[in-house]
Amino acid sequence: MTSPSAWPNSLWLSGRTVGTHRAVSPDDGADVIIVGAGFTGLWTALHLRRLAPTLSIMVLDAAQPGFGASGRNGGWCSAMAPMSLDSLAETASPAAAVAFQRALIDTVSAIGDFTAAHGIDCGWTHAGTLSLARTGPQVERLRSSIAEARRHGFGEEFLRMLPSNEVDEHLRVPGVRCATHSPACATVDPLALVLGISAVACEAGVAVRGDSRLLSHRRERGGNVVRLAVPGGEVETRCDWLLLCTEGFTARLAGHRRRIAPLHSYMVATEPLPDSVWQRIGWDSRETIADARRLVIYAQRTRDGRIAFGGRGAYRWASRVGPQHDTDPTVHDRIVSTMFEMFPAARGAEVTHRWGGVLGVTRDWHATARVDRATRTGFAGGYVGDGVALSHLVAAGFARAMLGVDDEISRLPFVGHQVSDWEPEPFRWLGINGMIRAVALADRIEARTDRPARRLGSLIERFIG
Ligand SMILES: Cc1cc2nc3c(=O)[nH]c(=O)nc-3n(C[C@H](O)[C@H](O)[C@H](O)COP(=O)(O)OP(=O)(O)OC[C@H]3O[C@@H](n4cnc5c(N)ncnc54)[C@H](O)[C@@H]3O)c2cc1C
Repeated sequence: MTSPSAWPNSLWLSGRTVGTHRAVSPDDGADVIIVGAGFTGLWTALHLRRLAPTLSIMVLDAAQPGFGASGRNGGWCSAMAPMSLDSLAETASPAAAVAFQRALIDTVSAIGDFTAAHGIDCGWTHAGTLSLARTGPQVERLRSSIAEARRHGFGEEFLRMLPSNEVDEHLRVPGVRCATHSPACATVDPLALVLGISAVACEAGVAVRGDSRLLSHRRERGGNVVRLAVPGGEVETRCDWLLLCTEGFTARLAGHRRRIAPLHSYMVATEPLPDSVWQRIGWDSRETIADARRLVIYAQRTRDGRIAFGGRGAYRWASRVGPQHDTDPTVHDRIVSTMFEMFPAARGAEVTHRWGGVLGVTRDWHATARVDRATRTGFAGGYVGDGVALSHLVAAGFARAMLGVDDEISRLPFVGHQVSDWEPEPFRWLGINGMIRAVALADRIEARTDRPARRLGSLIERFIG
């Protein structure tokens, strides 16, 4: 059981009271039990509710709604995905890649409409995203991202290049040579968003339960029997369908240990910055910001005037996750120094929050929503660092796969996508951590030489597809 004290010191949680949902009791069965009350689980419940209003649906969580990555992330609600257009065109078809990207762009707007319709106060700001280039290899990578978009028919309305003087009109970061801008991204407070979705699900008649950790499940005639750890003991309950939406925590479940590799990502936030600092930085529109280095960084200007800044972290031996891994002083210090290097005007500001969370990576870096009709079970996830909007779309496909609905969404390439298992340890630990080191080394080489680290680059690309 994850105790409430294990909630991270995240910016999104501070000053907020999170309501608690009671644990599952033995007479709490439902037609569909969804495990994991993050974006995926809650959106799946809402899609199911809309498509099949008479189903009884329960979403349960080992902690409480929003405890996982959904309540701790960088707050980019973007049309980005871990699988590139080229890779979808190769593994599915060029038309499927385009259909997927278009659906994801629409999803960003659909989530905005949802927050407006339900009055969810999550600071929704649909201002797009900027990816900055500050070295020659970064400029090259931005050019190739534009070329990839154009190859698949996406024009300036989706992604365009800004010269440095135009970037300066958005924000000032030293050494920027150019940037890409895509309008398909909103800045949000992710915990406020996930708690808002949870409240809407409850109002729609979905039973949301906390403090209920799935221990195991078995198939019996008449349905799935679900064994849960709850405060004070264990309970069993029943359902027809059991859907797992446990993302970075999935490897803790027997039978799923090698399905998803949990990767820790870490964030920091400054105190609210004074107007004098914001006048030097700019960033008035609050676009989300990254750059084209290989080891991802991501940032937003929060609605209360802080910089929230994150970076990719670490994989722990045997896919371990837990509160002890949600902070890493070395990685946090590195993120703080990168943040102040990019925003020197903010130097000296107090860093008030340091936290982390766990994201989920499939072996081929493709998201999936897949059901097994024989056992009436399913899994959806595998978003790497792009799950805020993508989870809504994947959940839409997941609900359709469960119900057997055939339409444009159920034909998107992540529906039914079969992912292969990760390698057993020690190969998994060696492979993932070796790759993180190679990526960081490639960034250092490129920053020093201003030339692409080609050999390391092709090794990395072969690993992440
Ligand atoms: C630091 C960080 C920054 C990120 N930034 C961004 C970003 O800016 N934009 C973006 O698009 N994506 C971002 N991501 C990724 C994004 O947050 C995730 O892809 C998304 O939230 C996944 O949602 P989910 O519902 O699938 O999983 P989660 O939100 O992780 O939810 C899984 C839930 O399952 C519960 N659970 C696990 N095991 C069990 C069990 N056995 N029984 C019951 N319940 C269980 C957990 O308690 C948890 O609440 C970031 C991730 C991290 C960690």
